Amino acid sequence: MAAAPGIAAEVAKTLPKVDVVLVGFGWTGAILAQQLCDAGLSVLALERASSRSTPVTWATTFDQDELRYMWRHHLFQNVKYSTLTFRNNVNQTALPMRHLGSFLPGTGVGGAGIHWNGQIWRWLETDFKLKSHNEQRYGTAATADLTLQDMPLSYQEIEPYYDMFDKICGTSGQAGNLKGAKQAGGNPFEGPRSMPYPTPPLPMTFGPKLFEQAAASMGLHPFPHPAGNLSEPYTNPLGMQLGKCTFCGFCEKFGCGNYSKSSPQTTLIPYILTKPNFELRTEAEVLKIERSPDGKHATGVTYIDTAGVEYFQPAEIVALTAYQLHNVHLMLLSGIGQPYDPASGQGVVGKNYCYQTMSGVDLFFDDKLLNPFIGSGAMASVIDDYNGDNFDHSGLGFLGGAYIAGMITGARPIEMVRVPDGVPKWGLEWKRAGTKYFLRNMGLSVHGSSYPQAGNYLSLDPTYKDQFGRPMLRMTFDFPPNDLKMAKYCTDRATEIAQKMGATHVHPKPRTGPYDITHYQTTHNVGGTMMGENRTNSVVNKYSQSWDVPNLFVTGAGLYPQNPGYNPTGTLAALSFMTADAIKTRYVKALGAPLVAA
Ligand SMILES: Cc1cc2nc3c(=O)[nH]c(=O)nc-3n(C[C@H](O)[C@H](O)[C@H](O)COP(=O)(O)OP(=O)(O)OC[C@H]3O[C@@H](n4cnc5c(N)ncnc54)[C@H](O)[C@@H]3O)c2cc1C
Ligand code: SF4
Repeated sequence: MAAAPGIAAEVAKTLPKVDVVLVGFGWTGAILAQQLCDAGLSVLALERASSRSTPVTWATTFDQDELRYMWRHHLFQNVKYSTLTFRNNVNQTALPMRHLGSFLPGTGVGGAGIHWNGQIWRWLETDFKLKSHNEQRYGTAATADLTLQDMPLSYQEIEPYYDMFDKICGTSGQAGNLKGAKQAGGNPFEGPRSMPYPTPPLPMTFGPKLFEQAAASMGLHPFPHPAGNLSEPYTNPLGMQLGKCTFCGFCEKFGCGNYSKSSPQTTLIPYILTKPNFELRTEAEVLKIERSPDGKHATGVTYIDTAGVEYFQPAEIVALTAYQLHNVHLMLLSGIGQPYDPASGQGVVGKNYCYQTMSGVDLFFDDKLLNPFIGSGAMASVIDDYNGDNFDHSGLGFLGGAYIAGMITGARPIEMVRVPDGVPKWGLEWKRAGTKYFLRNMGLSVHGSSYPQAGNYLSLDPTYKDQFGRPMLRMTFDFPPNDLKMAKYCTDRATEIAQKMGATHVHPKPRTGPYDITHYQTTHNVGGTMMGENRTNSVVNKYSQSWDVPNLFVTGAGLYPQNPGYNPTGTLAALSFMTADAIKTRYVKALGAPLVAA
């Protein structure tokens, strides 16, 4: 690819130039690498941590050691090397997190795609026009306390890319809407799919079946959870072969040695590594995006290796594929885009940071064995009746919603010894109850939306520095009153289903404030590099291209102006396919030009 005119890089230890440099090699990095290598561009992926592969790192005989993986964070970002500071609101002083709990970013080749659950969702059609849709239906007062924003694209535009991701993953599920025709047994609220799921839905065990029967008897619409844990052997369009899930129950927070979980390693990376125009450089942490003197063109990135040697890697295109929190951090450190200021409401980088409002209901059955050790990351029966705007919010005092899932992901012996409320937390009584209910409990997951409010944002910390002497990322976040009301309402609905399931003990656990960053909820951090219609309300355009630096593309959940009640990866993967398409069909023909008029 020819260089854009007038660009010259002058930094020590300059390496040979590539067409595209990727900052991070997880889900979004792998998607861009595959798509752009196939289009003939030279692609270099810089990944801060080590290389990992299914047959070597997770051979089928490997020990699914819960202590090592789940509790000692063997696969997750290590706070010794990278952390952030946190406060609930602007009146507090943020402090560095010495242990990550609430969310667990990945590190190393494959990113968090290694240890994700494989819950693969699409947004509702209305989620793409969330602000205007809600204002039209409920009036402008309904959105006044929230900084909601529409996406600059529609469900119909992104649908072909959702379909691409489903085909790469071999997603198991039952369509509810095929080209506008409702399908029995699927999600009746979903937008039209161009194709059915590539593989049939996962079979369900007793617990999710009880949920399905109870929900159906209440007039709700249960369907099998869409899963990247495969129901049958599958070969994807790149020739990658996946096997049938064995319901080993060590899926969420673990790697899969069985080739049954869709991950970058099982669906994309072995294919990419055969490409002569691809290079992967591991243990290479990107410190900054470098720019031309006028600031309008990214010349490449500076990275550091484990020996502490710094390099300048020139590139014609820079793609930030480093997970939402790190993408925002690198944008702020590189001085690209105006940082958001909650006092004035000006600026966009770091704005609309949102999370996921998770609640649940615990169920214990005296008279039923559920055998929850038979589980997978996405084995569940789900209802979407209380998600998004699938129900009338008039008079409820909140917007948004949640999917409710009767889900069994396994029975990990430390994490999942659950006892009914009121049982002591230790001693003989706890042991007796733990033994009695180990095979007789399950949870309903209430997977709620997270909507933005002006005081929730990401910024550079004024005090604390990271291992390279740069300001740490600072998170300021608490659950908006809107989301807590939503969580209460949806947890009440889940409780009704739990009671109908005939559980002996039913314990609702609605989300309450303040937000506690120390206890695991989800790794669904979104916002901060929002996608939008123009440069004053967003960081990137609909093709994930920076408004300020047109040869910089930013991927991931940072693009979301708010978080609908779904897991994020289906949509961020689809957006990555859309970005790749725009780069290879349009951007390369007019290097340096904006794909949307600024
Ligand atoms: C336990 C768990 C379960 C999950 N389950 C689900 C689920 O079921 N469904 C769902 O939709 N989502 C799920 N997620 C979230 C999902 O994993 C992420 O949405 C997805 O991996 C994001 O893809 P990404 O490419 O943006 O980031 P990642 O996949 O995390 O990849 C980013 C990569 O960039 C690297 N990197 C970071 N900074 C730098 C730097 N400065 N220089 C070089 N490299 C860098 C990281 O090491 C990492 O490898 C889960 C996450 C976790 C932790
Ligand atoms: S539950 Fe299935 S997909 Fe998940 S790790 Fe086990 S075999 Fe793999």
